[in-house]
Amino acid sequence: MAPVVKKFDLLVIGGGSGGLATARRAAEFGVKAAVVEEARWGGTCVNVGCVPKKIMFNTAMHAEMIHDHKGYGFDVELKGFDWSRIKKSRDEYIKRLNGIYETNLGKAHVEALIGHARFTEDKCVDVGGQKYAADHILIATGGKPIIPDIPGAEHGITSDGFFELEQLPKKVVVVGAGYIAVELAGIFNALGSDTSILIRFDEVLRTFDHLISSTVTANMEQDGVKVCKKTQVKSVTKTDGLMTVETTTGTIKDVDCLLFAIGRIPNTDTLDLQNVGVEMDSRGHIKVDEFQNTNVPNIYALGDVCGKALLTPVAIAAGRKLAHRLFDGKKDWKLDYSNIPTVIFSHPPVGTVGISQEEAEKLHGKDKIKIYQTTFTPMYYAVTEIKHKCSMKLVCLLPEEKVIGLHMIGQGCDEMLQGFGVAVKMGATKAQFDSCVAIHPTSSEELVTMR
Ligand SMILES: Cc1cc2nc3c(=O)[nH]c(=O)nc-3n(C[C@H](O)[C@H](O)[C@H](O)COP(=O)(O)OP(=O)(O)OC[C@H]3O[C@@H](n4cnc5c(N)ncnc54)[C@H](O)[C@@H]3O)c2cc1C
Repeated sequence: MAPVVKKFDLLVIGGGSGGLATARRAAEFGVKAAVVEEARWGGTCVNVGCVPKKIMFNTAMHAEMIHDHKGYGFDVELKGFDWSRIKKSRDEYIKRLNGIYETNLGKAHVEALIGHARFTEDKCVDVGGQKYAADHILIATGGKPIIPDIPGAEHGITSDGFFELEQLPKKVVVVGAGYIAVELAGIFNALGSDTSILIRFDEVLRTFDHLISSTVTANMEQDGVKVCKKTQVKSVTKTDGLMTVETTTGTIKDVDCLLFAIGRIPNTDTLDLQNVGVEMDSRGHIKVDEFQNTNVPNIYALGDVCGKALLTPVAIAAGRKLAHRLFDGKKDWKLDYSNIPTVIFSHPPVGTVGISQEEAEKLHGKDKIKIYQTTFTPMYYAVTEIKHKCSMKLVCLLPEEKVIGLHMIGQGCDEMLQGFGVAVKMGATKAQFDSCVAIHPTSSEELVTMR
């Protein structure tokens, strides 16, 4: 067997959100840490996730607001939109971030190893033929999008491909009903693509509170997205650059972009986990306990590779807690996965924390749950032609009316949520919400004045 070239206190596999956060926090405690990355620093979030997605959401917001300028008295004429220009600025911004992430590793004295990592039979980690040993090994390898097993699927792209598009497609079919499908379809539609979304059931975002799933679906339809319900792709053919998408409910022709957003699978298939005996579930996610321990002592996993709450701040928070537990004497530190606030950058955006009305009624019984709900038109739309309503719901547990779910959709709900997330996390009651004097005129004031 090849000799070990270096030994670390902590070796992290994966230079994404969770891996980088863990290594850098560990290094603060004087730990000799290294991170292995086979692609670009920053992982999914920075390169093909949150960051470029938010830039494209902002781009779409500009497209929408141009329609509203007239109502506010501006004489603005839309002369065109240059996708390649925003792509270039976006790519440059991300390249800068990649560099910053790498520099920060150096500043934190974390060793950066470039290449594909896999476990060896003697429980070390091989990176491009070099063998490394470590007292603690963290798997933070994230995941990748699924491509369905249907004829012609290779003509389609995934969210990764969305960020490579050089121009705005004319006619787009997005397959999927989760948040990535909703967000990308919304961006295409706002920027002017003829957009269809193919969903297996009647509504998008079915795992969310019904207020959210029904309103987002209705908003998409109102905005002109063709929501093809109870529809699945059967096959795809491509001639002269254009696709024909055969679905269970009809044929969609002349499609120049087919995007599958039907879920993600963990990056565990090439790690040679059998060499160390780390257990996975049936979908390849690494099984961990509440402290991010795998079944193998001193090997841990966190973030998307574990398949729970696939969000950047979750991976970061779990990683920082782990670093404190292992190297800072905080023996019982672990991430509390309850009440994680989440935003969906739909049009308008969604903010949600806690459990849905449906879950609450199932868990506690209908008679123990009180719902407060409101729908109104935000003042922004007072003078605009196109209007989107805002809906808000508080799910309260009786008798003290503890707020156990907060769900809202409307302009600004993305930025409204974080503070209310703190209140819900602290176990606030409806009376405590109401004891906070409203800020007027805002949409968020509704959350403290509902009756
Ligand atoms: C389109 C899209 C939009 C998203 N939007 C949001 C959002 O708005 N907000 C939010 O919170 N989350 C969002 N997410 C989710 C978020 O990006 C992930 O939850 C987060 O990146 C997970 O972090 P991670 O550290 O677990 O994995 P990742 O960030 O995926 O990092 C894993 C890293 O490991 C590397 N790697 C894998 N295998 C190996 C190996 N064997 N050797 C070496 N390196 C390896 C990969 O190259 C990658 O860089 C979005 C995701 C997508 C796809």
